[in-house]
Amino acid sequence: MEQDVKSKIATYQAGVRPPSQPIDLAGMDEEELVSLCEEMGEPPYRGRQIFSWLYAHGVNKFSQMTNIPKGFRAKLEEAARLEILELDRESRSLDGTEKYVWRLRDGARVESVRIPMRNVNGVMRWSLCISTQVGCAMGCAFCLTAKMGFIRQLSAGEIVGQFLAARRLLATGERFHNIVLMGMGEPLDNFDATVKAVKILTHPRANGVSAKRLTVSTVGIVSRLRDFVSAVPGVGLAVSLHAADDETRGKLVPVNRKWNLRALIGECRELPVGERRRITFEYVMLRGVNDSGQDAKELSKLLKGLKCKVNLIPWNPFPGTPFERPGDERVEEFRRILLAAGLVATTRIAKGADILAACGQLADPRQIAENTGLTPP
Ligand code: SAH
Repeated sequence: MEQDVKSKIATYQAGVRPPSQPIDLAGMDEEELVSLCEEMGEPPYRGRQIFSWLYAHGVNKFSQMTNIPKGFRAKLEEAARLEILELDRESRSLDGTEKYVWRLRDGARVESVRIPMRNVNGVMRWSLCISTQVGCAMGCAFCLTAKMGFIRQLSAGEIVGQFLAARRLLATGERFHNIVLMGMGEPLDNFDATVKAVKILTHPRANGVSAKRLTVSTVGIVSRLRDFVSAVPGVGLAVSLHAADDETRGKLVPVNRKWNLRALIGECRELPVGERRRITFEYVMLRGVNDSGQDAKELSKLLKGLKCKVNLIPWNPFPGTPFERPGDERVEEFRRILLAAGLVATTRIAKGADILAACGQLADPRQIAENTGLTPP
């Protein structure tokens, strides 16, 4: 159990009064909710009921928990709270993508993006992209979030809370079919909270998504990859590769100076991702930097024999960088070389770019202004 939760429960137990800081229920797993109920003198099954109200039904008021006795609801009302973030701003792209800016308790802001996707039969399905940190410490050269710098970790509750709040904004009968942890932040740099959130989001009774419909994207923190895959087996793993040689990757993704391609790809070859799963390698395409035919050949060589797929992401622009997005033909030519080498390769279609909701375009403008002295887009 999280230390923080434990101490809050202990505070409740010790005092006749409720704790001075309300206990946040969002982000608590079933075991924690069960202990909380026990500490409050209730039977363990109440914890499971609250788990179901919170995650499966997504209620945000104790009064909606109709199978919880009124007296206990009143006690909960005093000691705990359900909502962890507030909608600060909402914008809608011409392509139907919606970006939500959430305000957290301390005033920090994070973003989630809901993306309409058509499946093979043309049926529309929602994907939700959520953040794991406020800002990011990885410093990737082509990413707008990196310009914010690292502000702080999100708690498991703040990660799951984005899903809970975004789900309430869906129309009746709609649901999220996929969740991607590809918003702001580096998930493996916030390991415990991310693992806890992923477990809740994929819990069979939480009405989130199944493990195979949740994907975590990492910059490639080699020392944590194996632990992560073992902690949440069956979850999709996407690794930000972005170059097939150390010199280029070192410039784009600073973490490559700590773990080079040999270390990263070596570890990926050994990861116990399961029989049917493929690791996705994300490859942001930057004109004249990593988009040549030679780059494609080197990439094919690097990934030879590795069960994977390559997802090409034509760079989503923002002002104030030297980068440019390659033309569609260049991207397609690059992809053809990968296919000819026997790799599975797809191109990610940018969604929400007009509202800065596409990959690598999420950032708090004020924070960027503060860090760089520039006026953000
Ligand atoms: N920290 C995670 C999640 C990042 S966002 C990671 O590094 O994987 C998801 C993907 O978008 C990553 O592959 C990231 O490198 C990429 N990305 C970042 N900025 C981008 C931009 N401006 N255009 C296109 N892709 C970008």
